[in-house]
Formats: sequence, C-alpha cells, structure tokens
Amino acid sequence: MITFDKALEISLNQSITFGTEVISFEEATGRVLAESITSDMDIPPFNKSAMDGYACRRQDLALPLEVIEVIRAGVPPRKSVLPGKCSQIMTGAIIPDGADTVIKVEECSIEGSDLHPVIKFMGEKTNPNICYQGEDLRNGDIVLEAGVLLDTRHVPILATVGKVFIKVYRLPSVGVLSTGTELVEPGEKPGVSQIRNTNAYQMIAQLAKIGIDCDYYGIATDDEDITRNMISEALANNDILILSGGVSMGEFDFVPAVLQSLDINVAFKQVAIQPGKPTLFGTGRNKFVFGLPGNPVSSFFILELLVKPFIYKCMGHDWKPPVLRLRSASRIERKKSNRLSWMPVRIDSEGMVHEIEYHGSAHIFSLGSAEGIIPVPIGKTIIEEGEFVDVRSI
Ligand code: AMP
Ligand code: MG
Repeated sequence: MITFDKALEISLNQSITFGTEVISFEEATGRVLAESITSDMDIPPFNKSAMDGYACRRQDLALPLEVIEVIRAGVPPRKSVLPGKCSQIMTGAIIPDGADTVIKVEECSIEGSDLHPVIKFMGEKTNPNICYQGEDLRNGDIVLEAGVLLDTRHVPILATVGKVFIKVYRLPSVGVLSTGTELVEPGEKPGVSQIRNTNAYQMIAQLAKIGIDCDYYGIATDDEDITRNMISEALANNDILILSGGVSMGEFDFVPAVLQSLDINVAFKQVAIQPGKPTLFGTGRNKFVFGLPGNPVSSFFILELLVKPFIYKCMGHDWKPPVLRLRSASRIERKKSNRLSWMPVRIDSEGMVHEIEYHGSAHIFSLGSAEGIIPVPIGKTIIEEGEFVDVRSI
C-alpha cells in the first residue's frame, strides 16, 4: 500500500497531453490555453472620458467655460480646448487636445443660451476622470499565459484583445465502465441481491462538470472474459478508462489481472486513504486506467482527489483545488489514523465547519448535503473544536 501523495505523484508523472486544436473564443470556458495571448493594442486605446461631463483645462476650473462642441463616444473630437473653453463629452469618448480634466455633468451649472451654452464648475475639487491610453495594457503585453484553465472571466479578455481563435489542448477521450454482477441500471428495479449502478452516473456527472464528455460502456458482470472484452473495447476507443469496482481482494475482482493481460502495467492497486483503499492506476500503450473502488462515496472522493488532477494535467493544466481555511464547529474524533482520511462537511453562515452524518463509504446520501470535504492526515485522530481545517470544495 502506498500513500495518497505517492499515488498522486506516480499518476501525474505518467500523464501526457493529447495535442492541440484551434477553437473559437466563445467555446473557451473549461479549456486550457496552449499559447500565450498578447494584446494587439493599447487598452484603453486612447485617453478616454470616464464620465459624462465637460472636458476642460484644470487651471480653468474656477472660470465660466464656453462649450465649443459635443463629443460622442465613437466620434473623434474636431476642436482643441483653449483657455476659457470646454467640450461637452460622453463616457467613452476621446479627450480633446488641450483638455486634462473632465468635470461631471452633475457638478456643473449650465448658463448662457441653448445656442451658446456656458457652464460653471460648482464643486471644490475634481479627479481628472480620464482613463489614460495604455493604463490597463500596452500593445504586446501578455494577457493570458499558456496553461491557463479558461473560465467565463477570460472570454471578455479574449474579446477585448480581438483573439477570436485560440489554440487549446485537446481534451482526452474518457471511457467509463462499471463492474459487478449485482448491478442494474438506475431505470430498473433491482431484484433480490441486486443494487442500482450509482457510480457510472456519478463519475460521468463529475467529469461533465469539468468539461469531459465520457463514453459509457455499461456494466461488466464479474466474469473474466466479459470484463476483458469490455475493457479492451473501451481502451481501444479512449485515452483514459475509468472503471468502478472489481479492484478489491474478492474472488471475483478480476480487474487487475485483466489489465495485466491487456499490457496495462498496474502501478498501484491499494492506497492508504479512507475511503478509497482499493484504488488502481495502470498505464500502457499511451492509455491510462483508473480502477475506482466500488463503494460510491469512495469512488466520488477518488475521482475528485486523484483522477481530476490527472485529467487536468492531460489537458495541459496544473490544477490546484480551491481550499478554504475555516474553523471546526466541534471536536471530531476518529478511531484509526493509519490512512489519510477525507470527510464530507457543511459550512454554516458564520463560516464554521460541521461534520456530516456519515456511515461510511456506501453512504452516498451523506454527500447530498456536503459543501466540501476535509482531510485528516495520517497519525491524527482528533480535530479540536475551533481548530483550522482545510475545506476543499466539491
Ligand atoms: P467491489 O469494489 O466491486 O468489491 O464493490 C464494493 C462495494 O461497492 C460492493 O458493495 C458493491 O456492490 C458496491 N458497488 C460496486 N459497484 C457499484 C456501482 N457501480 N454502484 C453502486 N455500488 C457499487
Ligand atoms: Mg464487485
């Protein structure tokens, strides 16, 4: 049995990327950049008014100012602002030559006639109210680095610099297969000694959330030949195969042997983690196999903790899960401490962390109200009330 950190290191070290492709920036969310993106212009591209108001010279603020033109956004100014003059200006329009300040419309009184308006600044002081050319970005500046996992926040950045086609890493193709003679699909009523197949749909949903659209291969009954045929087909069509069940020590847990017979080298099949001890990782012929524990809570955790970082790495991204340091609302005890343990938790409105009733690795209902999971390291049996814990969002 190896530690979880070792298991993660072994699998991440074997990961590969699967080439690149060019996509529209509108499809960027969830993809990983395979090129750095630079700006093709200064942003803002010109000195721009931040307000609706009057562009003038700061030294003239105390004077009545004659309005010489109206400058709209999208239309360049025609006149320079001379002493004692100003131009009415809209937010987003170019600051005219000669002006260094925009006074807000709400801080002015308007005098003179409609044809020859004159304004007077009523305030005591004002900011320039100008967004200066290049203050956000200079032409040629890097706006996004290769390896960034693109999110909705990045779409407007790509739009702003005009990068409408982007090079991203290809997504790995992922197959999912359940094992177990006892399993029936969720739409069926289980017979005596049967249960519904929870894991396949859980894994497909977890992967869909990170943008991976899996191929599902169904249920392999606990028969060595059937298991071999189904794994072999799924491996032929995918880069990564995720199996559930069949990795424990039972007489019908054929997965490790079947993988060996298909030239998949099993790097480990037991990890010192709870839940999730019977976890397998193997590779061969540029194919990768994860064998997840049969119990649904275990397979949920292992997909989050081990498979997800691996898939992100295959997508060209060094993923670090978001973690919140919060205090435990109560004392939490566990009996054994020989494995790294993960527990589902809830966070209250004060930011305190609460244990969730959890009967073990088959208790899938405990995850329904969980907002995060917390680790309890090897050797630690007690988390004191008020002690900081690292809550990882799920
Ligand atoms: P195994 O790892 O195959 O020994 O399975 C461990 C436990 O998980 C057994 O109680 C199985 O019935 C259960 N199990 C295995 N696969 C699934 C699945 N796909 N959905 C729900 N429970 C499962
Ligand atoms: Mg089984």
